[in-house]
Amino acid sequence: MPVSFNLTGKTAIVTGTNTGLGQAIAVALADAGADVALVGRSSMAETEAAVSAAGGRTLAIEADLSTLEPIPRILEETLGWSGRADILVNNAGIIRRADAIDFTEDDWDAVMDVNLKTVFFLAQAFARHLIADGRRGKIINIASLLSFQGGIRVPSYTASKSGLAGLTRQLAFEWASKGINVNAIAPGYFATNNTEALMVDPDRNAAILARIPAGHWGNPDELGGAAVFLASPASDYVHGVVLPVDGGWLAR
Ligand code: NAD
Repeated sequence: MPVSFNLTGKTAIVTGTNTGLGQAIAVALADAGADVALVGRSSMAETEAAVSAAGGRTLAIEADLSTLEPIPRILEETLGWSGRADILVNNAGIIRRADAIDFTEDDWDAVMDVNLKTVFFLAQAFARHLIADGRRGKIINIASLLSFQGGIRVPSYTASKSGLAGLTRQLAFEWASKGINVNAIAPGYFATNNTEALMVDPDRNAAILARIPAGHWGNPDELGGAAVFLASPASDYVHGVVLPVDGGWLAR
């Protein structure tokens, strides 16, 4: 059988798609043929236009993922719209920066809730749907280099993304036999809102750039290929990996 990266006829749910990496992933999946349910807490008009231009149908689902409340609705609205859900990309995430010694409970809970708790329960709802329907599916979690490294002044973010790497392996192992692939992508340093504070700090910006073998901050478009691979039949035998897309950062 020829290798297939084609997503025609598939429906993806992508969280956190108003901007940044989520927007780029949604467009890449549409380019490969998927229809995309865009989940976010603010207007996703720009992403809707970009996905449509790439040939995909879109549904915008407004949802605040800091609680579990919207999870049933995300599945219901997607299924009501397209009749299926094949791919879930858990991309929405937040970061709070402070020295560990001063870190607050709010900065801990807020990050863990969006980056880890909601991710787990949305994956659970998605997997329950697939298993009930007896269909294959793909879950892609957006992890981080801080799934592997300690990071600087971001204790809850590192804990959440390291936890997400473990959760990816745990779910992969539990659901592989059900035909569900659970994998993660660990983006390196990409130019988005998430990293703006680093880019505008001349010292941190120079230090980061000097350490990236590829010599530049990632452009969100450079993440799309990995997402399409992990969403497509080409990765059917890939389970539980955390795939760095980092310009060589971890290889150094
Ligand atoms: P971003 O801040 O531009 O995007 C984050 C997205 O998550 C936005 O769409 C935002 O609206 C959404 N979001 C946050 N809280 C939400 C909530 N409560 N409810 C609904 N949506 C919510 O940053 P980004 O860089 O595009 O980040 C996307 C993912 O990639 C995050 O999980 C982030 O941790 C991860 N990541 C980014 C980088 C990077 O270099 N940019 C590196 C490693 C990992």
